[in-house]
Amino acid sequence: MRVIDHFIAGGTGGHSGSRQAEVFDPNTGAVQAHVALGDQAVLDRAVAAAEAAQPAWAATNPQRRARVMFRFKELVEAEMDTLAHLLSSEHGKVIADSKGDIQRGLEVVEFACGIPHALKGEYTQGAGPGIDVYSMRQPVGIGAGITPFNFPAMIPLWMSAVAIACGNAFICKPSERDPSVPVRLAELFIEAGLPEGIFQVVHGDKEMVDAILDHPAIGAVSFVGSSDIANYVYQRGAANGKRVQAMGGAKNHGIVMPDADLDQVVKDLAGAAFGSAGERCMALPVVVPVGADTADRLRSKLIPAIEALKVGVSTDAEAHYGPVVTAAHKAKIESWIARAIEEGSELVVDGRGFALQGHENGFFVGPTLLDHVTPDMDSYHNEIFGPVLQIVRADDFETAVSLASKHQYGNGVAIFTRNGHAAREFAARVNVGMVGINVPIPVPVAYHTFGGWKRSAFGDTNQHGMEGVKFWTKVKTITQRWPDGSVDGGNAFVIPTMA
Ligand code: NAD
Repeated sequence: MRVIDHFIAGGTGGHSGSRQAEVFDPNTGAVQAHVALGDQAVLDRAVAAAEAAQPAWAATNPQRRARVMFRFKELVEAEMDTLAHLLSSEHGKVIADSKGDIQRGLEVVEFACGIPHALKGEYTQGAGPGIDVYSMRQPVGIGAGITPFNFPAMIPLWMSAVAIACGNAFICKPSERDPSVPVRLAELFIEAGLPEGIFQVVHGDKEMVDAILDHPAIGAVSFVGSSDIANYVYQRGAANGKRVQAMGGAKNHGIVMPDADLDQVVKDLAGAAFGSAGERCMALPVVVPVGADTADRLRSKLIPAIEALKVGVSTDAEAHYGPVVTAAHKAKIESWIARAIEEGSELVVDGRGFALQGHENGFFVGPTLLDHVTPDMDSYHNEIFGPVLQIVRADDFETAVSLASKHQYGNGVAIFTRNGHAAREFAARVNVGMVGINVPIPVPVAYHTFGGWKRSAFGDTNQHGMEGVKFWTKVKTITQRWPDGSVDGGNAFVIPTMA
């Protein structure tokens, strides 16, 4: 059976060891490949290649680095269809959604094409007598990215495009559940002219993650995944003196005000709660209608919309969403639905036990709607990460703001309303990192920045945009004086001031 190997120093082959994991086709449930699980020795080889290549890459002028990004973007675009099929075959999302996954990553590559502008420093002439002050941004050196299964193209590109354009070498440790796309991206980077050793892929599980977190030559680690592991990565990486940004889980709320256009809200919720089988950190798995009348009207419109959703294989162009990633994840989602019922919520549409004809062993979960969910329930408190929408009824606007604000996660939130004042108040007061106003999935564009609050992110720097540039560079500030002999510099025993 095919073994998905690490991509080190410009190629695959000969790197895989004895430990491997199974990679499934979620549409059929069959094992389609094995992925190598690397260890310290594999990482050491990747780090050695990175150390050999990075100084010359950092010394390459930023416009030339940007040109590699331009070529890479064109190569990925030319291969969009094949890459999307590869992505769907391991992840399970429908092809159109895989193209969206790749495209959102490419938009960060487009941002990285403008890196010469983003890396310009600051300059003050005459900060003191004959003194100028200026700053420059220099690459961290070697960075690593540890990525989740749910966006196998977008998230490696969020990190690597900015890291590489800034002059770093980047080592990607993708999810072992869908590891192939980053390997193909590595090949395309080489074709685009990126030197060997600047973008590499090492596969693995906790052993490889720990090796990354402990490796003294790796200066920065970017992580995206579930919150407990994000916290672990943050603590261990920071304890080793690295800069770490670690994005975690989510449970995003959609607040529906009584004046909202409910027909549009239902369309928005169908896509945001069930698209990609709910396996998105910016999905909207909780809807909070304000007032009993809004809740009842919304529920009666949601039921037929949810029952009309088509679940199908990834290659079915008519399907709204495909299978979830593994059998274990399917079982976990179904057990959360059972728990929600035990806790007293009302099961309105049940997606458990869903089997697709001809694909009975695929990892499919039907769309599920739960009503009368309350904040004390575990099924509300925790991330389900499946095609499950929970209705939490709120009496008024204040309760709705407080629900989203007090939840342990603070990734995204949306409000649906025609009232500008309510929307403005909500955006200002809600304790969440990314807010949508009549926008159900408020993922910021590439030149803005992505990051949640509370247990949705550990560390203080977001992904991509100028925050990404800050994360992947160190700022150096130079204070200079070029004396011409006319001024006596004196002996400064006292701290110099501008007094
Ligand atoms: P995960 O936490 O299981 O895995 C993420 C990465 O951590 C993978 O590369 C995995 O190999 C590694 N890993 C797994 N177990 C580990 C361990 N014990 N020690 C060290 N490393 C370990 O996450 P997932 O299931 O792949 O992805 C889904 C999660 O990611 C969800 O919680 C989702 O909300 C979150 N997510 C967050 C964002 C965000 O930006 N906030 C974006 C996408 C996904």
